[in-house]
Amino acid sequence: MSVSDRGLSEEQRLMRDSCRAFVDDFVTPFIRKEWQREWLMDPDARLPASILEAADRIGIRTLGVPEEFGGFQLDPASEVQTFAIIAEEIARGDSGLADKLVQNWKVSVLLRNVAPRHLQERWFPRLVGDPAFLLAHCLTEPRGASDRWLPYNVPEAAMHTRAVQAGDEWVINGRKQFISNGYDAGLFVVYANTNPKVGMLQGTSSFLVPRGTPGLTVARCNETIGCRFMNNGELAFEDCRVPKDHLLVANDALAKAGIYFRPGKIIQAAKNLGVGMAAHERTADYVQHYVQGGRILIKHQAVALRLADMATRLAAVRALLREASRAVDERGPDADALCNMVKVFASEEIMKVAQHAVELHGGNGAMLDFGIEKLLRDASIFLHMDATADISRLKIVKALFPHTAGAYAGAED
Ligand SMILES: Cc1cc2nc3c(=O)[nH]c(=O)nc-3n(C[C@H](O)[C@H](O)[C@H](O)COP(=O)(O)OP(=O)(O)OC[C@H]3O[C@@H](n4cnc5c(N)ncnc54)[C@H](O)[C@@H]3O)c2cc1C
Repeated sequence: MSVSDRGLSEEQRLMRDSCRAFVDDFVTPFIRKEWQREWLMDPDARLPASILEAADRIGIRTLGVPEEFGGFQLDPASEVQTFAIIAEEIARGDSGLADKLVQNWKVSVLLRNVAPRHLQERWFPRLVGDPAFLLAHCLTEPRGASDRWLPYNVPEAAMHTRAVQAGDEWVINGRKQFISNGYDAGLFVVYANTNPKVGMLQGTSSFLVPRGTPGLTVARCNETIGCRFMNNGELAFEDCRVPKDHLLVANDALAKAGIYFRPGKIIQAAKNLGVGMAAHERTADYVQHYVQGGRILIKHQAVALRLADMATRLAAVRALLREASRAVDERGPDADALCNMVKVFASEEIMKVAQHAVELHGGNGAMLDFGIEKLLRDASIFLHMDATADISRLKIVKALFPHTAGAYAGAED
């Protein structure tokens, strides 16, 4: 299915082409040949270092890091739109790898905007200098992730992870779960309650916690149904002490996190689109070579109709993605509604695209070594990342009807 270049800038075309070459040269051959690797029970053995090194060589591991620290910063007027194009291309090769990389961009943008200068000077060069260095964003706890997304801004919905100042340090206690890159990140942005008497928008602070800090334990690498290369992890903080100057944002950290959340939803949708494009590409190829009833599959009209349906859903996701990513770049008043719309729309449409792919591959669609079932597994993960479908719909309602139906899920100051 050809995708038009309409409206793409020179920078966007260049980024797309170099990502496409990276995927075609390194990622797809690896995934096809070594399809068992994602199932290895040793998370360190899953993705070879050479893949991240190759991503690093074309600059996509450090997107968002200011150039003065050796990073690669995209045109700020269209940064989110360009992130979306890159995320789609990488996810076309493997969406777990895309997850690994996009966490670095999203957290880098957050740090660029909220981290004090001394922390940027300390951590950006470390990130740039080590091709294996990954970042993670730790918000979710064993209870109440949806409360954070809504947000349900009352003291009883506060985070259980607490940070208390003791002399020149912050002492963090609690647990974070379902964290992308949680198993192998070198640096974690961690949200913790610093004032239990107020709502979470007033009483949550964020901290930078380096790997290896005493009291921080990577408790486990979660075994996920799809996107397995992201090495999703769970973290325990037991009297974990970070220097006072590793405080990122005091008290209103969640209120300031929109700089992370809005592009995050766009990137989720873009990764989805990449998975859907891969499903369509592979299916279109299959039905033009595989013969049943004396003719290639596509000559059976019922099969062709499914291909048309897949292409239509992909085009609709792409159109909404372009609109929503432009709104986020322009900080438009409709950005909140649109980024939630595209996140939930893409996750549901791409599931249907992946189901068509599995169906049209018949028995081969269910075989691990064929690689089509992987697309369905990967697509299913997106339904639950960066808020569930129902919570995303509630966010849309809140954006559209703030004073009536939008007030439903609790006070939002
Ligand atoms: C693969 C993966 C990667 C992730 N990566 C990260 C990460 O990097 N960092 C991070 O912090 N988090 C991460 N998460 C967590 C993710 O954001 C949460 O899992 C998601 O927001 C859902 O929260 P929950 O799992 O606690 O579900 P819950 O909040 O327990 O929800 C359970 C069900 O209840 C519904 N529900 C809850 N509250 C309401 C309500 N008020 N009204 C109606 N329905 C409601 C939900 O829609 C859902 O159906 C990741 C999750 C996954 C699966």
